Amino acid sequence: MKKVLTVCPYCGSGCQLYLCVEDNRVVGAEPANGPINEGELCLKGHYGWDFLNDTKILSKRLTKPMLRYTRSEPLREVEWDEALDYVAGKLKTIKEQYGPDAIMGTGSARGTGNETNYVMQRFMRAVIGTNNVDHCARVCHGPSVAGLTAIFGSGAMSNSIPEIEDADCLLIFGYNAADAHPLVAKRILRAKQKGAKIIVVDPRKTEAARISDLWLQLKNGSNMALVNSFANIILAKGWHNDYFINNFTEGFAEYCNTVKKYTPEYAQAITGIEPDLVEAAMKIYTHSKNSFILWGMGVTQFGQAVDVVKGLGSLCLLTGQIGKPSSGVGPVRGQNNVQGACDMGALPNIYPGYQAVTDAANRKKFAKAWGVETLPDKIGFTITEVPHAVAAGKLKAFYIIGEDPVQSDPDSGGLKKALNDLEFVIVQDIFMNKTALYADVILPATSWGEHGGVFSGADRRFQRFRKAVDAKGDVKDDWVIIGELAKRFGYELTYKNTEAIWNEMISLCPSYAGATYEKMERQGSVQWPCRTLEDPGTDYLFKGNIFQTTSKKGIFFATEWRAPAEVPDEQYPIVLCTVREVGHYSSRTMTGNCWGLSQLADEPGYVQISVEDAARLDIEDEQLMRVTSRRGSVISRARVSDRVKAGAVYMTYQWWIGACNELTIDNLDPISKTPEYKYCAVKLEAIADQ
Ligand code: SF4
Repeated sequence: MKKVLTVCPYCGSGCQLYLCVEDNRVVGAEPANGPINEGELCLKGHYGWDFLNDTKILSKRLTKPMLRYTRSEPLREVEWDEALDYVAGKLKTIKEQYGPDAIMGTGSARGTGNETNYVMQRFMRAVIGTNNVDHCARVCHGPSVAGLTAIFGSGAMSNSIPEIEDADCLLIFGYNAADAHPLVAKRILRAKQKGAKIIVVDPRKTEAARISDLWLQLKNGSNMALVNSFANIILAKGWHNDYFINNFTEGFAEYCNTVKKYTPEYAQAITGIEPDLVEAAMKIYTHSKNSFILWGMGVTQFGQAVDVVKGLGSLCLLTGQIGKPSSGVGPVRGQNNVQGACDMGALPNIYPGYQAVTDAANRKKFAKAWGVETLPDKIGFTITEVPHAVAAGKLKAFYIIGEDPVQSDPDSGGLKKALNDLEFVIVQDIFMNKTALYADVILPATSWGEHGGVFSGADRRFQRFRKAVDAKGDVKDDWVIIGELAKRFGYELTYKNTEAIWNEMISLCPSYAGATYEKMERQGSVQWPCRTLEDPGTDYLFKGNIFQTTSKKGIFFATEWRAPAEVPDEQYPIVLCTVREVGHYSSRTMTGNCWGLSQLADEPGYVQISVEDAARLDIEDEQLMRVTSRRGSVISRARVSDRVKAGAVYMTYQWWIGACNELTIDNLDPISKTPEYKYCAVKLEAIADQ
């Protein structure tokens, strides 16, 4: 048996594991001694590999290009040349007829790796001529990137995951680590064992809330009001850090003006949190030596998400709880390479290394390196703007790599209409998924386990992942497919291997310049910034309290709370909030095709409902029920729980039947364009006959 060291393809923790291989077939996984997991794995790491063997439990591996010349035909298998000639021909026609900005592409936050994301964004910019490239960070931590960049000049986690366990206080805000990142949850437990105080802000009694010292069970949709009241009590009690504020920040006076009305008593009407609890929480946060704020989708998936991220960052500026070990901000990125897809510039406003497309010097540098006269200067569309851009006649073609937006994006009815209305849809993936049903062309790619490259973990950690088996079927690596497509445009985008792509990329990105493959091999991982060959990388940011904004100072921000877009009323009286599930990942194409993981839960998924609401509506545990919003109606199963409060229900988004995104609303944060998955209004009905 051969054992191949690689990195888990699921969450952003970045655990290292060995794939056990016999006769070119993966037969098991074992934990490796990676810097995050130290010889342990969660369920998904242990049992999440056999989708590679095409189990066909949920869907089948794509093994041959497929195409249809009209939508009335079924997709049929074709040779690569026919598929790629057709794709190139259609994209050229659309570009000539409507201009390059009529074409949209995605990178992928999943197993495809940083190198593919780099090549894809180069293809969209240098070959198609548009900045219309984005990926699913938009629907998760887009607000963290935007908010932290505004406050600190850098949009990433300030500290490392291993530092969590040495914090003296963890403020865990809207983040269910036990389900989303089990090996991060392990660090939280260790922090608790070492004596840290744990403060949890969450409407649900998560595992973190269960072990917390203080649990602030706020009302859904009230985050900004609570963060403002945190600032208010810190100032009222004189717990702020004058030295830090005077020397390392800007905008303090305006900040104070905004938060002064948010006394804990005033905020209580919005948040439902007792003033004493607010004071107790901030006493711990400000009096602890090292306080670390962790957050997840409970912060970022609201229409007012960027503001809340800025508000949380401002708490660090107010108290000086940043720029030192185990102290700072921790947006814990969701998918295994969502940090990497951002790092590689698969975003409509930046090149790799977070270099703005609106900066003429950046455009000149990348144009020269990529051998083109000019590059587009207009910021492109985000993926959540696609349905609106299609409706406005601005987008005609969509090239989707390693994403399943019909399953994962809000208001899936609206998205399906947009896909139907587009002139041309290309899906490049490893499995048949819901989005591929709308494709004109399907390009089958190799999977994690069948190719190698670099992933970026949630804590800015570059790690090599490796090929374990040869792919079966007529499939190609993602970056090879894109290169062959580019050739049909008369553009050279071929590389000898992923290291050649990587070397080109780091030569253009000062923050990654010293992060070579050789250094990753030698050190096990490299955290950016890593500017020179001698630099080992950076465990925590902002040493010396020097921030990366233009003025090098941290910039305070506070604003008024605003309510979610669709609040409950007589017709739709309950709040629906989407959540995570420990055994399944993202749109479930990978975990749903693993024998072990597929046993954990079954279609049609479940709705977590309070004991009180269940009794009032005469709904029993496990009973089928109908959930209806203004956008759709699905059937799911009740899970009656004393961990949630009356007035809100919770659904995971993996299930094909009972898909909660038929219900969710595409109200977007105005800055990051991230949808409000955490709040819309629904009604519930018990289904009597089962
Ligand atoms: Fe994989 Fe995340 Fe589990 Fe680690 S915690 S094994 S990275 S899913």
